[in-house]
Amino acid sequence: MAKDYYQTLGVERNASTEEIKKAYKRLAKKFHPDLNKEPTATEKFKEINEAASVLGDEKKRAHYDRFGTAADASQSYTYNANDFGDMGGDFDFNDIFDNFFGGSGGSRRRRQGPEPGADLRYDVTITLEEAYHGTTKTINIPRLETCPECEGRKAKKPEDIVKCSGCNGTGYVRRSQRTPFGIFSQTGPCHICKGQGSMVKTPCPQCRGEGRIAAKRNIEITIPSGIQEGYRLRLEGEGEAGDKGGRRGDLYILIQVQPHKHFERRGDDLYTEIPLSFTQAALGAEVDVPTIDGKVKMEIPPGTQPETVFRLRDKGMPHINGYGSGSLHAKAIINVPTKLSQKQRELLEELAKVSGDQVKDKKGWLF
Ligand SMILES: [Zn+2]
Ligand SMILES: [Zn+2]
Repeated sequence: MAKDYYQTLGVERNASTEEIKKAYKRLAKKFHPDLNKEPTATEKFKEINEAASVLGDEKKRAHYDRFGTAADASQSYTYNANDFGDMGGDFDFNDIFDNFFGGSGGSRRRRQGPEPGADLRYDVTITLEEAYHGTTKTINIPRLETCPECEGRKAKKPEDIVKCSGCNGTGYVRRSQRTPFGIFSQTGPCHICKGQGSMVKTPCPQCRGEGRIAAKRNIEITIPSGIQEGYRLRLEGEGEAGDKGGRRGDLYILIQVQPHKHFERRGDDLYTEIPLSFTQAALGAEVDVPTIDGKVKMEIPPGTQPETVFRLRDKGMPHINGYGSGSLHAKAIINVPTKLSQKQRELLEELAKVSGDQVKDKKGWLF
């Protein structure tokens, strides 16, 4: 979902506005379709503009850093020259962009039509046990909702919406711009009404004419069993409210799974260790092996070597999109005693003698 705007511009996440401006200028010149005839240049140029329109704007950048999406990046790079006022007066890339795409006719129509709400991203961290069983979580997210007072119309009363005098209701004006690529004369959106063709005489007092208000919402999310780190759940229509009747954005839940004390996960398989004493390994034993869903008994055959891996079928994580589960791989770790009782020492020395092993006695003498 989220595009990495920092990567697009090749800057660090903590880059200053100045650095972003520089990176943008360099890339915009490199990929401007008038100068770069490679077929991918247009798309690249578009991406650069979109990234700069977000990262070049403090508010939008903060929103993007927080939610991983830009509220209105797709609109802002088409025009709204004010966004780029501080990006260098000699280089108004909005107009260059508009010019390249044959004036702002297309974008103007888009501007006037409904605008979809922004997608939101929310990170949820769960335990491996929760990933195993599946779980539900209630999250509280801030998002823009359609103003209940004016229902998104932005005006106090319907008759408060009047024709824009700056453009006589057409939404656009003709103007010229000087850029490093020459002077472009073009039809652009009206600055007064921002291409709307209409204005609000008395704004809605509740949303102050924005049509949307910030609100916090509790949303219950169902996390399916078997979910993996990095999995993204999409909750359609749970993003921000649209503008001018546009559809709601989506909410993306990014799942993070905490590391577990006893288990390591690779795909749907789990890995753990079972500590065995030297005698258990040599003689064989029945031991308790911890699984994510409780302990199970397991036979250790006589003569088990260190690092032997026992595979317990279906004791791993459930497959998220299907039936069955992965395996649990339990690796035998042979513990050598560090402290011996008198009796243990005698028995081990006896064993060494019988086996013909040369060992040290208590005083360190070899025998
Ligand atoms: Zn309102
Ligand atoms: Zn106007």
